[in-house]
Amino acid sequence: MKNRNESEKAFLFKSFSSGSEGLVFSIERGVYGTSDGPGIRTLIFFKGCPLRCLWCQNPEGQNPYPEIILKQDLCIRECRECVEICPERAIIKTSEGIIEINRKICTNCGQCARICPAKAIELVGEKMTVDELMKILNRDKIFYGSSNGGVTVSGGEPLMQPEFLLNLLKRCKEENIHTAIETSGCCEWTSLSRVLDYTDLLIYDVKLMDHEKHLSFVGGDLNLVLENLVKSNGKGVEIWVHTPIIPGYTDSEENVRKIAKFIANLDNVTRYGLLPYNPPDSKYKMLGREYKLSGLKPSIEKFKKLKAVARSSLPTRILLE
Ligand code: SF4
Ligand code: SF4
Repeated sequence: MKNRNESEKAFLFKSFSSGSEGLVFSIERGVYGTSDGPGIRTLIFFKGCPLRCLWCQNPEGQNPYPEIILKQDLCIRECRECVEICPERAIIKTSEGIIEINRKICTNCGQCARICPAKAIELVGEKMTVDELMKILNRDKIFYGSSNGGVTVSGGEPLMQPEFLLNLLKRCKEENIHTAIETSGCCEWTSLSRVLDYTDLLIYDVKLMDHEKHLSFVGGDLNLVLENLVKSNGKGVEIWVHTPIIPGYTDSEENVRKIAKFIANLDNVTRYGLLPYNPPDSKYKMLGREYKLSGLKPSIEKFKKLKAVARSSLPTRILLE
């Protein structure tokens, strides 16, 4: 048994993305009426993200390798299949019937997930090819036409797999499928620029306008985010900007006003959305991780006030979600 850190686990899952094959952790089909783009859409979530937002709503998308999640309430009390199959002896079952996984020695091999009869353990993150994704998108195409829908590639951070993303978007454009990507903008401009040539809609997160807070709460360089946003605007692609409203972190009037004023100067931004906070505690629990912001309470009144602040700082051409 050997303790492994994150980079060793990533190394164990070598070459997680190439031009034709990438790592996907979720696909949602027939999604309508959301901030993920117009019409009925297929959402594809790429695994791997360079950031570590304290409030991340998709923590299962952060690590660039497959990993197991445990839904304790589905576990069958008499069963011990996973305990017996684990080659690392990373799983124990307590006398109370509780499964405990030692994530430090787990290699995410997935054997426990494959054998679990109750789907209490699942492996999140699957290698998929561009062809496999296109088969799904071509099946969903029937829904896109009448609703102006299409595909939205999200994450994680889709630009963590730039060649795979580029090839997928190219194929979508060959098939006349509307393409959107959701990004944090924490990526190399050369990669983003190439991808934008095949992107109809760029959905861009701007979370904070304070450089130190951005570094400490999000884990990335705000200058890079803003520079890439300005450069993207220069490429003429339609842009929607989003700000997740996290109580005590991003929900000051000053923050929202500064973001709104910044994007007011970008002529290809057509929409600004404030995204309400949904506590993601259960996802962290399934991953065996601590959620550091547990207990945050969103306020509807404050949300309404922030919308008014945003509206008063935006030109009328920018729609407020
Ligand atoms: S994925 Fe499951 S079987 Fe594989 S090492 Fe981890 S706990 Fe053991
Ligand atoms: S294999 Fe599944 S059902 Fe069986 S003990 Fe493990 S988690 Fe529980």
